[in-house]
Amino acid sequence: MVIVGGGGHGLATAYYLATRHGITNVAVLERKYIGAGNSGRNTTIIRSNYGIPEAVRFYQRSLELYQSLEAETERWVMHKQKGLLNLAVSEASLRTERARAAVNAAFGARTDFVTPKECKEICPQLDLTGGGVWPVLGGSYHHEGATARHDRVVWAFAEGAMRRGVHVHQKVAVTGLMKEGDKVTGVETTAGPISAKAVVGAVGGHVTTLAALAGVRLPIRTHPLQAFVTNHYELAFNVIAASPPLLFYMSQTARGEMLIGAEIDRQPSYSYRSGYHFLQNCSQRALTLFPFMRNLRVLRQWTGVCDMSPDYSPIMGLTGVEGFYVTTGWGTWGFKAIPAGGEQMAELVATGKVPELIAPFALDRFAKDRTMADRGSAGTH
Ligand SMILES: Cc1cc2nc3c(=O)[nH]c(=O)nc-3n(C[C@H](O)[C@H](O)[C@H](O)COP(=O)(O)OP(=O)(O)OC[C@H]3O[C@@H](n4cnc5c(N)ncnc54)[C@H](O)[C@@H]3O)c2cc1C
Repeated sequence: MVIVGGGGHGLATAYYLATRHGITNVAVLERKYIGAGNSGRNTTIIRSNYGIPEAVRFYQRSLELYQSLEAETERWVMHKQKGLLNLAVSEASLRTERARAAVNAAFGARTDFVTPKECKEICPQLDLTGGGVWPVLGGSYHHEGATARHDRVVWAFAEGAMRRGVHVHQKVAVTGLMKEGDKVTGVETTAGPISAKAVVGAVGGHVTTLAALAGVRLPIRTHPLQAFVTNHYELAFNVIAASPPLLFYMSQTARGEMLIGAEIDRQPSYSYRSGYHFLQNCSQRALTLFPFMRNLRVLRQWTGVCDMSPDYSPIMGLTGVEGFYVTTGWGTWGFKAIPAGGEQMAELVATGKVPELIAPFALDRFAKDRTMADRGSAGTH
């Protein structure tokens, strides 16, 4: 089998093919270096506090696989449970957080609706007045929210797969797909052709180009997503804080930097360029609730290109072209999904049967008018 893309999803699929199904005749082809895409650029937030039952179940599975990943792979991925506080600054967002807590409790995620006083107890750095503009009205607290070091996760899956015989080829780009009739039978690469019974596309923001080679048109648009870190702050920010209505979120890295992200750039593009406008806009919103950051400096800023689906849910599985599978639509939220996405894609490719957990996320949901709209949950991270 060939997996195109050495990001988290491609490598986790290879890892679970090897460990759960004993399939090791697998080549992962990466055009740059593993983790060069969004899997090495994200803000590392892991959570399952989604807004629809299918998503809560899927991300909860992933969150649990993350909790045991270090023991399973024998690699330190710096997984740390911190809890995630969602802050509501409008009546509408307060209703959303109340509904989120109820849906989460019903489908297996631990999330409580919390008062402003409880928000302040969880996160003492929070200014409840919101600078007099956006007073905090309450929120939700997701107990199992966590972070893990992104490139260590990538390497843990890569090493685990390679130890079992999977081949990971860096600096090998897929340039074409080999076909017999309507069936995909292999790939053309910068290092020559490779035949394969199955080809899995796991190429992040470049998925529409790859799928087009198979004659598959995907409802995906690629948008840049930026993030930044500040200089060191005392290691005292112990929670992940987010405000869905203000569209920003933040956590503290093990080095003490404040790591801050927000929504995608509106204009679809493959550009990795970062801009001052984003920095100014995002930090202004973050400072409203967290004025202590006024004294910090921006250390670094970067960008990834995200595969955004119209309903803000992933697209996993069959494509309608025999031998060609995709795992995409991971947008701004796919790091947390790496273990479960890999596990489920491996099961599909190994058995030929669509696992129940990912059946709702099939590509044909758009043709059947059964979209999985969850924008309020997936929005920024
Ligand atoms: C700034 C930022 C912050 C984010 N924050 C979070 C977060 O906090 N939590 C969260 O859950 N998610 C987050 N995400 C989203 C998350 O990073 C992605 O959804 C996830 O990493 C996607 O993994 P992937 O393996 O599908 O894609 P990628 O990691 O992008 O991997 C795809 C790989 O395919 C390779 N490739 C492309 N074309 C070819 C080709 N033709 N041949 C061979 N190789 C090819 C690329 O080089 C790349 O390495 C964030 C993303 C960004 C950009």
